[in-house]
Amino acid sequence: MTELLFLLLPVAAAYGYVMGKNSAKNQALELNRQITSQYSKGLKFLLDREEDQGLEHLIQLLEVSADSVEHYLTLATLFRKRGELDRAIKIHELLLNQPSLSSSNMASCRLELAQDYVLAGLLDSAEEHLVILVKDSYVEALDPIINLYSQMREWHKGISMFEAHSELFTKAQHCAAVANFYCEAALVDNTPKLMEKACALDHMTIRPYYELGKEAFEKQDHVKAIYYWRKLVVSKTNTAPLYIKELEQSYIQLNLKDQFDELIEELLCKGGVLIRIKHCQALLEKGNHQQAVEFLTDSLKREPTIRGFSFLLQLLGNNNAKIKSALIEIDKLVTSYIATKPEYQCKQCGFSSHKLYWLCPSCKHWETIGPSKGLDGY
Ligand SMILES: [Zn+2]
Repeated sequence: MTELLFLLLPVAAAYGYVMGKNSAKNQALELNRQITSQYSKGLKFLLDREEDQGLEHLIQLLEVSADSVEHYLTLATLFRKRGELDRAIKIHELLLNQPSLSSSNMASCRLELAQDYVLAGLLDSAEEHLVILVKDSYVEALDPIINLYSQMREWHKGISMFEAHSELFTKAQHCAAVANFYCEAALVDNTPKLMEKACALDHMTIRPYYELGKEAFEKQDHVKAIYYWRKLVVSKTNTAPLYIKELEQSYIQLNLKDQFDELIEELLCKGGVLIRIKHCQALLEKGNHQQAVEFLTDSLKREPTIRGFSFLLQLLGNNNAKIKSALIEIDKLVTSYIATKPEYQCKQCGFSSHKLYWLCPSCKHWETIGPSKGLDGY
């Protein structure tokens, strides 16, 4: 009998194990059921627009399951997309008050809340949260706060933020924004010196060099104009159409036209049609008409452009009195065609315009608009 009992011991142990396991499983199932029920209850309240009760139910669940934060963020994003900003704000605000929130979840939640505020037009509240994030070195907050300061035209606030946290500004697009904040502030306060600070940024930007060159040119300080514009044209040759005629003038004023021609030769390999036209003009001045025609024809075969074609018509007309008037008429048509084409285009979003904007009105990026490229461009 005792032996039989011994034999039954493993069976009893196995039974106990299975029962215990089932009981733990049952407890987990019960907890899950409770969560699902609270969740459904909360969602039902929300869908019925009884927001306070609905959110309260959902937030209570956070303590039970802290890893469900993602679901709340998704829910809030859904509300924001539907234009229900008050609900999105409520969820983000309640989440921010949860002590169980991890610091990374806290930061992403704060960023989302700031974006809700921007969309709701509550810019001061958005700024408050973004400033906290930047102070915590949360790089993801840079784009929205730069957009915010651009929208509010708060150039000095943007500059102070950069000067206090310059280590965060490692991307070219962020440096471009800061450079433009310096330039805008300098133009508003009439303190061009402020632009010089923008020249010391990690990434070379366009506008401070362009503006400083322009300011010097207007004051007939040709040495300084050459200093800034030469730096710009060597490093960002595609910007040449913005100032190349004035740069040439500065060289001429200082009796340094030869140096300008040398500079153009240096830029030929990376410059556009305007640089090639300047090179042709230099050849013409030296009496090398045929060489200019050959150079331009050859480059047009490789890279056709309407502006290059127009200049070729002028070259051919000047050399042939019989067909000069006909070529002049054709060139007039070509020139009027060019005039209808936008001179500037955004490389980020494709927005095109006859006017140069430093901040793209369409995609809100700084310095993404430049002289247009391609057949009708530069
Ligand atoms: Zn754009």
